[in-house]
Amino acid sequence: MDVNLSSEDLAFQQEVRDFLQNNAHDPKTDYAQWRLNWFELAKAKGGWDVPKWPEAFGGPGWSPTQHYIWEKETAVAQTPWDLPFGLSMLAPVLMNYGNEEQQQRFLPDIRARKVNWCQGYSEPNAGSDLANLKTKAELSEDGTYYTVNGSKIWTTLAHIADWIFCLTRTSDTGKKQEGITFLLIPMHQEGIEVKPIITLGGAHSVNMVHLTDVKVPVENLVGEEGKGWGYAKGLLAHERTGLAGISRSLVALDHLRIQASGVKRGNATLLDDPAYKSKLAELEIDLLATEFTELRSLASAANGAEPGPESSILKLKGTEIQQRIQKLTVEAGGIYSAAWGKQPVGHSFAKGGMAGYLSSRAYTIYGGASEVQKDVVAKNVLGLKKAK
Ligand SMILES: Cc1cc2nc3c(=O)[nH]c(=O)nc-3n(C[C@H](O)[C@H](O)[C@H](O)COP(=O)(O)OP(=O)(O)OC[C@H]3O[C@@H](n4cnc5c(N)ncnc54)[C@H](O)[C@@H]3O)c2cc1C
Repeated sequence: MDVNLSSEDLAFQQEVRDFLQNNAHDPKTDYAQWRLNWFELAKAKGGWDVPKWPEAFGGPGWSPTQHYIWEKETAVAQTPWDLPFGLSMLAPVLMNYGNEEQQQRFLPDIRARKVNWCQGYSEPNAGSDLANLKTKAELSEDGTYYTVNGSKIWTTLAHIADWIFCLTRTSDTGKKQEGITFLLIPMHQEGIEVKPIITLGGAHSVNMVHLTDVKVPVENLVGEEGKGWGYAKGLLAHERTGLAGISRSLVALDHLRIQASGVKRGNATLLDDPAYKSKLAELEIDLLATEFTELRSLASAANGAEPGPESSILKLKGTEIQQRIQKLTVEAGGIYSAAWGKQPVGHSFAKGGMAGYLSSRAYTIYGGASEVQKDVVAKNVLGLKKAK
């Protein structure tokens, strides 16, 4: 695709910049209120609050270049935080496989950022081998509700979620990919217990979720019973594309250069150090190459295609790049990166560097581990056959 911006694209870029500048957060005002207003204002621009949604569901119908511009500009500006679970993971499933009633019931609240969702896929013995999942859903004799029993693990933000979209097993016969059913389950009800898991960086973002005799009305079944695997796979491709974070990494690389230029090395700075400079250059080359894969993915999405196996290349390379940025941040911060607690020490950017680095180890695990992405690329992109 042509990435030189036309005069129309340049005008769009200016419009986006104006919007982001005019609606930036004023630190004197309440952040939560500003955040909700920001999405309303973006909506009034014609679907800018849901850039990736199709036009039929209120999206802006942008060209790939307009998406590219939006990603870049919003990565630079301080746009409000957003969670992917409802907006970019569940919403496409509901649009493709949910019935009209479910679309009308759930999509408006997802769009308004009023309801938090979490993703109940992984289980203690079902991660990379997700189809091994055992959480059981049994339909009542009168066919009006399911009773769900089992445990989910690593469930991000389950402790603040209102709902969980869950893969459950409704049948044990046939291939293990069959008999998986996609259910929407309210979190605030009897039988759901959320237990925190504290990760390496000291943060609480993931949880165990235990479901004991949880009743779920059949209205909350998405698509057909037993066909959930097909829906889940589509959702994973959306998740992987979103996790690559290329535009954010480009901005982080710029910050890294500024930070390194403030760290003294003899009479010069870390940015003049040939070894460090060479690592930054390698990072930039990989980042730009990955950016072009993202552009190809955007181009096919704009033609109506679902994300394909290239989403695995994006996930693999994008998350490795994010980890390298964290590592170089720690290198720039030196011993000060290990500082914990409230008091900043050393360079202003250094505090929490090590915590960020440790947390970043998970990037190449969640959303599908790197080894699994390599399998997908080998099979579906390169067309390689399994060794006998
Ligand atoms: C921070 C964090 C947040 C997460 N959030 C969520 C969430 O919100 N919802 C959710 O459902 N899940 C979530 N996950 C779970 C995540 O998707 C799984 O951890 C991931 O799929 C790997 O599964 P596993 O942990 O069971 O590891 P395993 O599948 O047991 O893998 C262990 C190791 O074996 C390797 N391996 C496995 N299979 C193969 C293979 N076929 N070929 C080569 N190597 C292989 C893996 O690469 C890995 O190194 C999260 C995980 C983390 C760490």
